[in-house]
Amino acid sequence: MTDRQAAAFRRRLVRDLRDKGIADERVLDAVAQVPRHRFIPDDGLHRQAYDDVALPIGEGQTISQPFTVARMTELLAVQPGDRVLEVGTGSGYQAAILATLGARVFSIERHAKLLRKTTPVLKALGLTVRTQAGDGTYGWPALAPFDAIIVTAGGPTVPTELTDQLRAPAPGRADARLLIPVGPPTQQVLHRITRTGSEALADETFNDVLFVPLVRG
Ligand code: SAH
Repeated sequence: MTDRQAAAFRRRLVRDLRDKGIADERVLDAVAQVPRHRFIPDDGLHRQAYDDVALPIGEGQTISQPFTVARMTELLAVQPGDRVLEVGTGSGYQAAILATLGARVFSIERHAKLLRKTTPVLKALGLTVRTQAGDGTYGWPALAPFDAIIVTAGGPTVPTELTDQLRAPAPGRADARLLIPVGPPTQQVLHRITRTGSEALADETFNDVLFVPLVRG
């Protein structure tokens, strides 16, 4: 697909997401900018890249549905310069959206094989995302704390290692938050857990989502 075609498809996707309730213009701008097809390894699927669907990326994993990426990005409310940890790099598309919003993104993926495809794509697009192979349920202690953490796979519980890596409240800054789908594989609920004090957390729930499993170990 040519750059012009892709840009036209993206404008259509942005209209679709707006119709579905995404209202944050910064998020919609990022969707309009990031070439989602580049994050889909199978060229045969590129013509579906701007449909609002999840698609396979290998290793039994998927690139998330654009609506889910947009909704989670909206709920994460990142500001330029925020240090953001992503668990589940997968295709790299969510990381690319966050980096386009000006976040400093650190992303962990358990399948090293996926990262070998993803890291060069991010680099070729000039996006500075630091990636690491490993189990992200332990967070990234050496780089903690974070202003925001986003988990793009669903598990039964919220790992305390992740809430522990949320920065303490600071004057003039939004409280640090963790966005994570929680529940069994068929009916996860999106939780936003905010660090409101050095020992205090607030938990809000949002829409149901469907993610591949968050695997521990
Ligand atoms: N954010 C991705 C979504 C990919 S699907 C995107 O935009 O494409 C979720 C990813 O989470 C999969 O690649 C899966 O391998 C990974 N994953 C699952 N459990 C994990 C864990 N404990 N640590 C790191 N990655 C994990």
